[in-house]
Amino acid sequence: MEKCSFCGREKKDVNLLIAGISGHICDSCINQAHEIIEEELKTTSDFDLGKVKLLKPKEIKAFLDQYVVGQDDAKRYLSVAVYNHYKRLAQHKSAKDDVEIEKSNIILVGETGTGKTLLARTIAKMLHVPFTIVDATVLTEAGYVGEDIESILTRLLQAADYDVSAAERGIVFIDEIDKIARKGDNPSITRDVSGEGVQQGLLKLLEGSIVNVPPQGGRKHPEQKMIPVDTKNILFICGGAFDGIEKKISQRMNTQTVGYSGHESRERVDRSNIMQYIAPQDLKSFGLIPEIIGRLPVLTYLNPLDRDVLRLILTEPKNAIIKQYIKLFKLDHIKLSFEEACFEFIVDKAVEFKLGARGLRAICEAIINDAMFDLPSEDVKEFVVTLEYAKEKLSKSNLKRLKVA
Ligand code: ADP
Repeated sequence: MEKCSFCGREKKDVNLLIAGISGHICDSCINQAHEIIEEELKTTSDFDLGKVKLLKPKEIKAFLDQYVVGQDDAKRYLSVAVYNHYKRLAQHKSAKDDVEIEKSNIILVGETGTGKTLLARTIAKMLHVPFTIVDATVLTEAGYVGEDIESILTRLLQAADYDVSAAERGIVFIDEIDKIARKGDNPSITRDVSGEGVQQGLLKLLEGSIVNVPPQGGRKHPEQKMIPVDTKNILFICGGAFDGIEKKISQRMNTQTVGYSGHESRERVDRSNIMQYIAPQDLKSFGLIPEIIGRLPVLTYLNPLDRDVLRLILTEPKNAIIKQYIKLFKLDHIKLSFEEACFEFIVDKAVEFKLGARGLRAICEAIINDAMFDLPSEDVKEFVVTLEYAKEKLSKSNLKRLKVA
């Protein structure tokens, strides 16, 4: 008689009995086992180094490689920063000497759509820590219209289901940090509400302090009780496009090389990718205040995506867009495939519409949506997206909608 090897119940008494090599397990034992695992993972995510294996930088990079195409420099910097950050957390428990490892908040500079958010999100996924994305442009100083700086932590608390200690080890991605740069070069003329004030406000979060956070955010609930959150161990990753910063880098490098001796150093500069030389003083010329720059000690850049990278993004990452469609169709028992030429076509269109990687998805949707609508109700076992089909569907879709202004 078949019965569950764990609880002993017979097949007729359970909903589902799954057979293994030398035993069976019923659905309720599976559920129970699952709960035990969850519980166990929760306690081990304390970053107690004894229990959780801290990935080495190379392993962190290998993990990122599965999801993010290219951007090797950024990945290397991030891997080291994250490794050090969590080593630092471990150190807190047993700090006996005077050497205190400082926090390594990160700033990523690169055009929009080059993978900054994806990198931050992937790091959070790897670490199983709460993660939130905030847009720096909505932040304002307290007392002005917009969101208070503390709202950043409200979001992190929400992402952590209000588990304060989990939130205190989380990761915050602050997008568009360049948009709160000081406007103009003269810092002293007037107070710049949207820019410098917000930078000042961010300081205390970045450096680590105890911040009283409104659990629901906003000022609409004045009666709510504040939750104190310690930001000491929260990793902040900032991202921004810093449009035009190449010019500042070039200017700095020109003055440097002139002061230097001879042509040699000038020749070594790779003019085709000036971004790789980005340095903290360039962020200062752009309008970030030195205190902020000081609290974002890890500075790295992302490359613009060229055709080859876009092509890879379409099919190579672990959850590449095309893989997702194939899986969706598989759930309907339909084998979906694409003619190779389709991929080139999709990339062409993404480049043409200047949509970058974000556009790949929109274009794919336009091509494949009809099939996703029709095929589940038809008796089809296989579907091949040909170049001709792709062209036809895309021309029928509202192309203008895809184009960015
Ligand atoms: P950013 O934060 O730099 O503006 P995102 O990380 O949000 O850009 O990227 C936008 C989308 O483009 C993401 O959803 C991701 O799927 C895709 N993408 C961008 N860059 C890459 C990359 N290097 N590898 C894989 N996917 C990428």
